[in-house]
Amino acid sequence: MGYFHFVLLFIEYISVFRWIKSHFSAFIWVILAFFIGTVRGSHKAKIGEVGLAHRGILFFDELPHFSKSVLEALREPLQDNKIHISRVNAKVEYPSDFLFVAAMNPCPCGNLLHAHKECRCSELDIVRYKNRLSDPFLDRIDLCVVMQQVAPSDTSSISSRQMHEKILEVYRMVKQRGQKSFTAKLSDAEIDKFCVLSAEAKAVLDMAVHKFALSFRSIKKIQKVARTIADLRAGDVIEKGDILEALSYRRR
Ligand SMILES: [Zn+2]
Repeated sequence: MGYFHFVLLFIEYISVFRWIKSHFSAFIWVILAFFIGTVRGSHKAKIGEVGLAHRGILFFDELPHFSKSVLEALREPLQDNKIHISRVNAKVEYPSDFLFVAAMNPCPCGNLLHAHKECRCSELDIVRYKNRLSDPFLDRIDLCVVMQQVAPSDTSSISSRQMHEKILEVYRMVKQRGQKSFTAKLSDAEIDKFCVLSAEAKAVLDMAVHKFALSFRSIKKIQKVARTIADLRAGDVIEKGDILEALSYRRR
């Protein structure tokens, strides 16, 4: 993983994301999934690494280098939190509710966004590299962030303890609001009920839907991410700024 890379995050809380950024290696249960059995298991319908990541964190480094079949097969567990494995003599459903984290470079050589190094890739190289990730796959990822080069003077603005307290605060708000599940897991009907937008926020979202031709799934994800952002500032209603921040976490 180079100094510059995109981090694609499938995550419940923005605050957890910020925490992971500063405590990445110490925190994560890393499962490398380099083989085709990653998602579907073996020919005996044995559970693969994706199933084993249930209730954990699944991290893919150098995301575009995974085979198309592995990436596309991830769509099912990312969407439904379960995976179906069908073999000649067996059909099995495994739960696979995990936090998905992935990293990739901005281009094949890794230098595209570097302040001093020169990118050696052609435009076509970069397009091909990014095109390895399909729109439906990327639609299932909540947060997409460009990481900047780390400087020796960089420090975390918030401690792990403060982050932990903030998450508990949000958790209590979610409960008080009457949600039966975490915001990331809300159904469409629950989103309409719990992710209430101010008139200004709705106008911004409508504009974004038109401008970026957002899919239905993307719209719902933006509403859920904005709900969590509003919770982090203890806001009852999702405001324009929350929607704008949620939009900034879309893939580029
Ligand atoms: Zn390059």
